[in-house]
Amino acid sequence: MPLSFDNTQIAFQYRNNKDLKLAHFLFHSMSSPLITRAGIKMTQLMMKWNLPFTGLIKNTIFRQFCGGENLEAAAHTATLLEKYKVGVALDYGVEGKESEAEFDKAVPEFIKAITYAGSQPNVPFIPIKVTGFARFGLLEKIHAGATMNGAEEKEWQRVQKRVDAICGAAAEKRIMILVDAEESWIQRPVDELSNRMMEKYNRGAVVVFNTFQLYCHDRLAFLKQSYEHALSSGYILGAKLVRGAYMEKERQRAAEQKYPSPIQPDKKSTDADYDAAVTFCLRHIENIAVFIGTHNEHSCMRATQQMQELHIAPGNQHVFFAQLFGMSDNITFNLADAGYHASKYLPYGPVKDVIPYLMRRAQENTSVSGQTGRELSLIKKEMRRRRL
Ligand SMILES: Cc1cc2nc3c(=O)[nH]c(=O)nc-3n(C[C@H](O)[C@H](O)[C@H](O)COP(=O)(O)OP(=O)(O)OC[C@H]3O[C@@H](n4cnc5c(N)ncnc54)[C@H](O)[C@@H]3O)c2cc1C
Repeated sequence: MPLSFDNTQIAFQYRNNKDLKLAHFLFHSMSSPLITRAGIKMTQLMMKWNLPFTGLIKNTIFRQFCGGENLEAAAHTATLLEKYKVGVALDYGVEGKESEAEFDKAVPEFIKAITYAGSQPNVPFIPIKVTGFARFGLLEKIHAGATMNGAEEKEWQRVQKRVDAICGAAAEKRIMILVDAEESWIQRPVDELSNRMMEKYNRGAVVVFNTFQLYCHDRLAFLKQSYEHALSSGYILGAKLVRGAYMEKERQRAAEQKYPSPIQPDKKSTDADYDAAVTFCLRHIENIAVFIGTHNEHSCMRATQQMQELHIAPGNQHVFFAQLFGMSDNITFNLADAGYHASKYLPYGPVKDVIPYLMRRAQENTSVSGQTGRELSLIKKEMRRRRL
């Protein structure tokens, strides 16, 4: 049977009726910008005033988009997904930490997740954010090419050691590390660190992936340059391809500080570069492992068609697809059902700590057009099929 992203029975097979109704309620609410804005504002105020609001969040948006409050709870969700051959990128979603003590504390948390992942058949990935181990200001300074003082040099060395400890543990357990991309004004040290880790660990098998945000107009060229570097240095390039999540922030900063925006002029240009990046990776699949992180059905379908044209088997060890947990199940589950490596980014952590992540999901889904409309119509279709 040809691959289709319209099969809702496969898409929502892991969701019981109660979960499906919750998803309907949430996507319906988020389709109203007014309700979403009010919800975000209310959450911010309740956090500020230390009001007990976690119960409400936990039973609604957290349940939809997160795996649980700790590794053990997330492991439950991972096991459920395994039944459907869906893999997991286990994402310790705590954000916004800024102290050395907190950075140090994060390392064993990640190593615990890697150890758990190593014992599971369907948890091949652990995503990390370099800002989870480094002060934002330090990364900003390195990106800008400013000279570090002695204390900063040592601070940067500690960051590299933390990331190296994680990549080393992953190599040992045969787990892959996805280095997420964040704001463009801290990206240079993230790229350099990722390249160094790939050079050290991606020999024979891929352990580390760098992320390429194709909404930046220079990233397709950078992907090609990274490939040439990998080739000449004898390691496999791990390329996680995304469009990019910080567009408004990027444009606003560029306008305020009066420098040319790094973002593509329009969505069409981002889409063109994204698909060109996928093609580039598939054409060099011997030396690139590609992680296609997108909810865009056209990009996913196009990638599968190209794989067929290039005689790349669906289960090829260098091609991975992924969507975020709670979104685009129609893509993930239908891909997995057809034999592709399809995964969910599954964030976990205390409710309070994953609030920034949840607010981003709410914001991104605030539009009746595009993805939210599609999610809602698929959920409705499945509810009708189940006669709910
Ligand atoms: C598994 C996974 C991992 C991810 N990891 C990261 C990460 O590490 N770093 C990160 O930044 N994001 C990450 N994202 C988020 C991703 O970058 C996108 O924001 C999100 O997936 C929406 O893009 P899309 O390809 O799914 O869908 P689409 O709906 O097709 O694309 C929407 C995206 O297109 C771009 N876009 C929209 N309008 C315009 C415009 N006018 N001009 C130019 N570009 C435009 C923006 O990037 C926007 O997010 C990840 C997503 C997934 C699924």
